[in-house]
Amino acid sequence: MLIERKFPLDKPIRDSYLPYGRQWVDEDDIQSVIKILKGDYLTTGPAVGEFEQEIASYVGAKYAVAFSNGTAALHGACFAAGIGEGDEVITTPMTFAASSNCVLYQGAKPVFADIDFNTYNIDPQKVEELINDNTKAIIPVHFTGQPVALDEIHILAKKHSLVVIEDAAHALGATYKGKNVGSLSDMTMFSFHPVKHITSGEGGIITTNNEEYYQKLLQFRSHGITREPDKLIENHGPWYYEMQFLGFNYRMTDIQAALGTSQLRKIDKFIDLRKKFASMYNEAFKDINEIQIPYQDQSGSSSWHLYIIRLNLEKLLGSRKKVFEALLNENIGVNVHYIPVHLLPYYSQLGYQRGICPNAEKLYEEIITLPLFPAMTEEDVNDVIAAVNKVINNYRK
Ligand SMILES: *Cc1c(COP(=O)(O)O)cnc(C)c1O
Repeated sequence: MLIERKFPLDKPIRDSYLPYGRQWVDEDDIQSVIKILKGDYLTTGPAVGEFEQEIASYVGAKYAVAFSNGTAALHGACFAAGIGEGDEVITTPMTFAASSNCVLYQGAKPVFADIDFNTYNIDPQKVEELINDNTKAIIPVHFTGQPVALDEIHILAKKHSLVVIEDAAHALGATYKGKNVGSLSDMTMFSFHPVKHITSGEGGIITTNNEEYYQKLLQFRSHGITREPDKLIENHGPWYYEMQFLGFNYRMTDIQAALGTSQLRKIDKFIDLRKKFASMYNEAFKDINEIQIPYQDQSGSSSWHLYIIRLNLEKLLGSRKKVFEALLNENIGVNVHYIPVHLLPYYSQLGYQRGICPNAEKLYEEIITLPLFPAMTEEDVNDVIAAVNKVINNYRK
């Protein structure tokens, strides 16, 4: 998202605009895609299968099913979990709308549980309070890449027979109690949008250890059609296929998959750089009273998708909006993640009211996302630090 500079006050810290996130695509990636363009398959062919295997093996899951994007993958997971009309699914409001839209796609009802004020992740205690006979699943989101309290979520899921679908769009490469995110719940979704850890242009995937989910996901992403002889009700001959339920065309292309596989080879480097830049920010901001740096829970290791500062507004003369605009004037591509989903107009019209998640609503007023992506340089990081210092000094009470 590019927001125009509106109020040029003085010489900005940077001459050029630094976005909050951006892909890293190099010659290897380009060659991988060219190879596909010169080959036999453009849409779902062998490169998709290869990408699925690489992701499954990276996270330590048995199966992976690639989708055209992460939102489609979440929709597939909700379908495979059997979520439908009359069901309730508990998720966090501090996320992108896709985490709960997938529930609506299935005709079910998203229920928002408030966040923990330290981690900004869904609070398992709030989840428990919302569980009732209609609750079918929980969709926790590893917000910013910091793993959710999965042990607590799994205890609740087991006690109440709920399916757990992790939204790990921010968390490729994160670990929880030493184990990779992607192998720990019924299903886990990763996104390959260009701002995420690795990209396939658009793309998403579900990882799972459950064969039944795996089979359903495969069929769902391709119209509900199967050609597998042992699944067919009839069989008219070699051309024969059956559409057995209403699925979608949510297939990933080989072009996307080849890019994704090439990107995955660089994941360790990408995460190391994200961690390094995040610690530079932490170090620079830890003693500034007007700013709270992201709390890191010791149960997990974040893969640092986002770096979010929280403003101590009582110590500042300006509002979050003023600080945000001042940073934009320094040519720093700040952002806000997220507007709590239940406050979005579509959700308001469905009846979700302000006040149901006070922590998320309060946090939303105080946060600013700073640029963080592997392709930035240490100089870029230092520009952001200088800009934050300049702006905070300006608005300090
Ligand atoms: C990016 C994202 C998604 C959706 O992924 P797309 O690939 O863009 O469809 C879902 N949830 C969260 C938290 C995300 O950040």
